[in-house]
Amino acid sequence: MEGKNYINGEWSTAGDGVIEVMNPATGEKFGTVPNGGETEASAAVDAAAEAFKSWSKTTVYERASLLMKWHDLLLENKQEVAEIMTKEMGKPLAEAVGEIEYSASFISWFAEEAKRSNGRLIPASKEGKRIQVLKQPVGVVVSITPWNFPAAMMARKMAPALAAGCTFVAKPAKLTPLTAVRMYELAEEAGFPKGVINLVTGSASKIGRVFTSHPAVRKLTFTGSTEIGKELMKQSADSMLNLSLELGGHAPIIVCEDANMDLAVEGVMASKFRNAGQTCVCGNRIYVQRSIVEEFSQRLQEATAKLKVGNGMDEGVQIGPLVDQDGYEKSARHVQDAVDKGAKVLVGGDGRAENGAFFYNPTVLINATQDMLVMNEETFGPVAPIMAFDTDEEAVRLANDTRFGLAAYFFTDSLTRGTYIAENLEYGIVGWNDGAPSSAQAPFGGMKESGIGREGGQEGLDAFLETKYISIKL
Ligand code: ADP
Repeated sequence: MEGKNYINGEWSTAGDGVIEVMNPATGEKFGTVPNGGETEASAAVDAAAEAFKSWSKTTVYERASLLMKWHDLLLENKQEVAEIMTKEMGKPLAEAVGEIEYSASFISWFAEEAKRSNGRLIPASKEGKRIQVLKQPVGVVVSITPWNFPAAMMARKMAPALAAGCTFVAKPAKLTPLTAVRMYELAEEAGFPKGVINLVTGSASKIGRVFTSHPAVRKLTFTGSTEIGKELMKQSADSMLNLSLELGGHAPIIVCEDANMDLAVEGVMASKFRNAGQTCVCGNRIYVQRSIVEEFSQRLQEATAKLKVGNGMDEGVQIGPLVDQDGYEKSARHVQDAVDKGAKVLVGGDGRAENGAFFYNPTVLINATQDMLVMNEETFGPVAPIMAFDTDEEAVRLANDTRFGLAAYFFTDSLTRGTYIAENLEYGIVGWNDGAPSSAQAPFGGMKESGIGREGGQEGLDAFLETKYISIKL
């Protein structure tokens, strides 16, 4: 597949050559996209700035109707878009289809929600004054997204931005740009006016520099690592960009002795092994109450051993390849470090990296301790370390012992224990007996070094609106 950039309503191959997109399940080349840089990024921002003049003045009803056309086209073509995703990223096809549906759910939700971006009329303390509050689109929005959810991370930004009346420039990840290209083709078919949506693939640092320094840009919305998030925040200081940052996580999962064991195993499997463990909300550390740690570990081992690893295009595969060699090596390094420090492998602990394909087997470790790499760094792979705890206070303390604060999970049927744990976890997203809490209607985002701002929910729209206060003296 040959992908192009989309700038000011035109498809273009301009750039410094091309970037090759590889299939991580086979090691074969799947396609190319232009290696764009400053020139392309600037042209895209200029186009978005020009288009903002008219797009921001359209009614939200017009914008919502275009978004719903895009939503429908995406769902009509979901199988095809999902296949592109699986071939460039590796996730099982069923998960890729699920991601397209999830992406579409953000588009329809924000198409509706934007109709309610109401202002306010506030009673004034002085006679003859009127205090009006208006919500207005923030302006040109630029987005930088990662490879693990090539469709959803972009849709979650693009839909609310467009619904709010902003114009948009996307830079998808180098490893997975073709899903975005196909989504843009469908968006073009839906009929967005020229310049409203733009796509630039290529050099992250060059495009990133333009995004953070071009005077027309008003907002940067980013999903990726905490390190790059901090770098972009520093770069954005001079232009005082409005920022939304969805950064790394290191999710704890607490399983209490009174938990429904079936639900806990199911929830941990869903949170840990979706996308082969390559999600920022993936359970990374599992704390299990000592009285049930043996039974739980055995149940998790049995369920994990049944997972089918392979090419995501093959029927029934549940664990695809890791996206690249670095990803593979990180999982292997985390397991080795844990074993060196006293952990025991119950299942997995090995893999196969050959000819550009990187399969790491789903792994369960017991006897984990807080000093292990796997308990501190985001693994981004299918590795589940288990550590025993005694009291709820201890579990919460261990869970909060990290610079991250994105997602956390716990399992208990006790309202009292659950309320204590939920209210004391320093995390933006908490799943109580729920391994998959993310949805379009809910605010998704992190505390601490996991980021700034929320995506989804009413907050996800607010992120693209400025508040203007108009004081009227009669
Ligand atoms: P991940 O490990 O999830 O890929 P990264 O933070 O490395 O996380 O990448 C997330 C996105 O940020 C990708 O689109 C990547 O190309 C982009 N990126 C990486 N480095 C920079 C940079 N210096 N400036 C702007 N964007 C960057």
